[in-house]
Amino acid sequence: MPTIPYGRQSVDEADLAAVSAVLTSDFLTQGPHVEHFEAALVEACGATHAVAVNSATSALHVAYLALGLGPGKRLWSTPNTFVSTTNAALLCGASVDFVDIDPQTYNLDPQALAHKLETARRRGEPGPDVVATVDFAGQPCDVASIRKLADAYGFRVVEDASHAIGASWRGEPIGCGQHADITVFSFHPVKIITTGEGGAAMTNDSVLAESMRLLRTHGVTRQVDRLEGATHGAWYYEQVALGLNYRMTDIQAALGVSQIKRLESFIARRRTIAARYDVELTDLPLKTPWQSEDSVSAYHLYPVTLDLQRLKGGRKAFFDLLRARGIGVQVHYIPVHTHPYYKRLGFQVEDYPCSERYYESCISLPIFPALTDQEQSRVIRTVQEVSFDLGVD
Ligand SMILES: *Cc1c(COP(=O)(O)O)cnc(C)c1O
Repeated sequence: MPTIPYGRQSVDEADLAAVSAVLTSDFLTQGPHVEHFEAALVEACGATHAVAVNSATSALHVAYLALGLGPGKRLWSTPNTFVSTTNAALLCGASVDFVDIDPQTYNLDPQALAHKLETARRRGEPGPDVVATVDFAGQPCDVASIRKLADAYGFRVVEDASHAIGASWRGEPIGCGQHADITVFSFHPVKIITTGEGGAAMTNDSVLAESMRLLRTHGVTRQVDRLEGATHGAWYYEQVALGLNYRMTDIQAALGVSQIKRLESFIARRRTIAARYDVELTDLPLKTPWQSEDSVSAYHLYPVTLDLQRLKGGRKAFFDLLRARGIGVQVHYIPVHTHPYYKRLGFQVEDYPCSERYYESCISLPIFPALTDQEQSRVIRTVQEVSFDLGVD
């Protein structure tokens, strides 16, 4: 039997038609479809501006640059994320520090943040310039609490919502910009909607949006009101900042425009799958993910944590048996500070114990819109069998 992956894109006939139509149009890279996609993102999320780029990593990079991260500046973030959340700040020349996760939500713990901020203030040490929080697995983090701390301590907030387009928090769609200065999405194939590779930065601040637009295309502008000198003629452009080539192509954007039409149905299907796991994975030596009462998770991932006391061979045996039986489980995430590169920056194992405890027992089960009921039955049955085979009581 073929392996069921932990995540997979859903590409349909309409997506194919949208992409092939672009290939014979006048624009292949950033053109009208990028604008359409940005308008669709604004419509879906309720922010004023969307800046589409070629990945979430690029979106984080231009977001951090627009917020002024550079040498001598500091980013604080969660260790339970993909490395690019913090790498993008290191690429700006800023330094990185971490705040541990809440063991219930697996998101950056606002109380731990408050404690770390207060400790730094008491010691006369500098606090963060930017805090980047992550909506892990699609479960929105408590950005309102982080916003309050931002206002009290004077830092900016980036929400890495790579897992969470289509999610909402207290009735507000993620990306609406109510609490975060900038919210970032990823359109990698395994995420909620895809453009092959791609990302976007959402904001309600037009100065930040302009700055990110400039940075994604070399820091070069043709806009007359942005020129620092007099124009030489119709060909004239100026480089006014040190930018990058982070453009999304029109080919990718056309796929995005087509995909975002199915955002609601993708989320609904993911939530149905999660609800069934919630019910059918009870009475096993594992814990299903927490769900907030006042938010709607996008369920990018369905991470369970194993009761390691009750399983022979621990997480590795559990993982290997599931893989051997065709269930493409995955582990999210190796705490960022424990990677060799970060250890060389001075971080150590045991620095953020909640993220490390979580990592030792977590395993992500398959969840994606095209997962069929029969396939999910097979996942559930196999998890039950493996729990039984490895179980001790
Ligand atoms: C996938 C992911 C990224 C990086 O996204 P790309 O589009 O592949 O650059 C960043 N942060 C988180 C939390 C992610 O899951």
